[in-house]
Amino acid sequence: MAGKCRVCGAPAYARLEYANLQLCRDDFVRFFERRVERTVERYGMFERGSRVAVAVSGGKDSVALLHSLWKLRGKLGVELVAITIDLGIAGHSDRYVPLARRVCERLGVPCRVVDLRGEYGFSVDELRGLRRPVCSLCGAVKRYVLNREARELGAHVLATGHNLDDFLAALLQAYIRGDLKALAKLRPYLPPEGKLVARAKPLVETPERDTKLYVEALGLEHVTWKCPYSSGASSFEYKRVLDLLEEEHPSIKFQMLRSFLERIQPLISVEEPSLLSCSKCGEPSSSPVCQFCRIKSMIAKLETNEARLTSSRRRGPGFERAASPLGSSQTSPR
Ligand SMILES: [Zn+2]
Ligand SMILES: [Zn+2]
Repeated sequence: MAGKCRVCGAPAYARLEYANLQLCRDDFVRFFERRVERTVERYGMFERGSRVAVAVSGGKDSVALLHSLWKLRGKLGVELVAITIDLGIAGHSDRYVPLARRVCERLGVPCRVVDLRGEYGFSVDELRGLRRPVCSLCGAVKRYVLNREARELGAHVLATGHNLDDFLAALLQAYIRGDLKALAKLRPYLPPEGKLVARAKPLVETPERDTKLYVEALGLEHVTWKCPYSSGASSFEYKRVLDLLEEEHPSIKFQMLRSFLERIQPLISVEEPSLLSCSKCGEPSSSPVCQFCRIKSMIAKLETNEARLTSSRRRGPGFERAASPLGSSQTSPR
């Protein structure tokens, strides 16, 4: 890049159109971390002395989040733990789980690896047979597991790597659906509520492109391939629209965030249904049986049907139904 760093005059590494700013590698890294720190403070995300559970998928956002929080941990006065979920996605999980482990190990952050199949009884690959897109079901599964695990680790806050573009894509989606409940709950920080651990998005003011520049500037190992199910995610289209707007009007993404949080969201009032306890698992839920347990029983039903089909084919007519290996292994240890 031809330009020079505005701070020190060294050759520029990053050109940030939204701020009309060019920075060298070191000054960009400092700029990035200062912004994370300011975001945490602005929304009162962490109290001093709190334990912060960071959801680490190994993607650039979660790696940038863990690394920047790790550098800020002394200043912010927080203790970090990491949670990685082995979702059981063939050709994907066996690569990102060891990577996430290595990222945590290098920083000395304890990492809880949750084995979805072994501990919760099913894998994300098994969601394929259900009628809804795997990506949206997987999102619900992750939210459930992360909250439960964060709470069991004694964390006060669960921090996720959602960046500015993720936030705005969710905003557009909720807006188009007219989903007022989703719009009301779309916040950089959600305080704790009953068994729901507080949730924070410290990268909410960080454009997606910057997290990429950050991990590359520091040479941080991160997942560079795509999840096999990500092609079904509609957020890509929303992000393309946002990028198009940003190209023509630098900083419009920040303007959208501010306008929404400061002027629009305060006017949205929806009646919050009181939080119930799921009758099956006891976790917080807005309905008598939580979404996670509903997904789980849909998979169980699917397996029973498949087992019935294969066993009836094998045995032919005239046999009693025997216990099938698939149909009887639905109970999970949790
Ligand atoms: Zn510089
Ligand atoms: Zn449940």
